[in-house]
Amino acid sequence: MSLGEFDLIARYFARHAARGDVLLGIGDDAAVIATPADRRLVIAMDTIVEGVHFPVGTAAADIGYRALAVNLSDLAAMGAEPAWMTLSLSLPESEAQWVAAFAQGLFELADLHGVALIGGDTVRGPMVITVQVAGYVETDRWLTRSGAKEGDLIFVSGSVGEAAAGLSVIQQSGPGAAASRSLRQRFLRPQPRVELGRHLRMFATAAMDISDGLLTDLDKLCAASNCGAEVDVGALPISAAMREMFDEASCVDYALAGGDDYEIMFTVRPAQVALVPAGCTRIGAITKGKDVRCIRDGLPVTVRRRGYDHFATKDSAP
Ligand SMILES: [Mg+2]
Repeated sequence: MSLGEFDLIARYFARHAARGDVLLGIGDDAAVIATPADRRLVIAMDTIVEGVHFPVGTAAADIGYRALAVNLSDLAAMGAEPAWMTLSLSLPESEAQWVAAFAQGLFELADLHGVALIGGDTVRGPMVITVQVAGYVETDRWLTRSGAKEGDLIFVSGSVGEAAAGLSVIQQSGPGAAASRSLRQRFLRPQPRVELGRHLRMFATAAMDISDGLLTDLDKLCAASNCGAEVDVGALPISAAMREMFDEASCVDYALAGGDDYEIMFTVRPAQVALVPAGCTRIGAITKGKDVRCIRDGLPVTVRRRGYDHFATKDSAP
């Protein structure tokens, strides 16, 4: 990057870490962290690329927010409590206004979850943002994708399909109605389910966050757990905003295949159902075998789309 690189870092990213466990933060060759002996460190990293994971022209504050949100969602799916992050920022130019807005969006979400930025790097190149997050989970209490068993019930948090629908609205520069604004926000500012993940770690048998699409991600959970699943299409939590803008078939397509929701999908033993908090919806059950099937009113249904790449097939999106 330009001569201004160090100025940029100092001005927008080097904040005093408010966490007592950060012994040495930004400014030296590396950070030093104090870790307690009775907890495990959980680490995740996700990269987002302009034109691949978010449209060209997305506001810098939204990019900053989203870059951290997708990572916190992975920690949430593990039942972990977020603590720190590092940031790798590749930008075509070091434009101060853009970097200031990016940092504002990033820290807005970081402050909500008590996450300290402890290091990173800036380079000149195509717009690529990598965030690595780390957090804690109690010994032997982390969630995985691999613990689901036949008879477990499948739940999902919040509503599904809104983020993919919001992206299609953004890509088509669709109407500015209130419903479309709320859908666009779902794509631009995903809300990682950290608190839910912390609760689920006490009783869920398996969990993962929905990033690629509900059915595609359920395929992964079932493969990891060596089981199958049945999803009741009629039970999918589809929001009023979705129903206002799209017909039933498109709502179902977005809900099953859309991705980018960053909701948590999890499984519980039937005896533990009372522990599932409000705001989560039962969508199906874990079965024998390896197939993930869909039903409606008790009968098998064929699904039009199991998952798709928004940017490769935007013309064919529902
Ligand atoms: Mg994930």
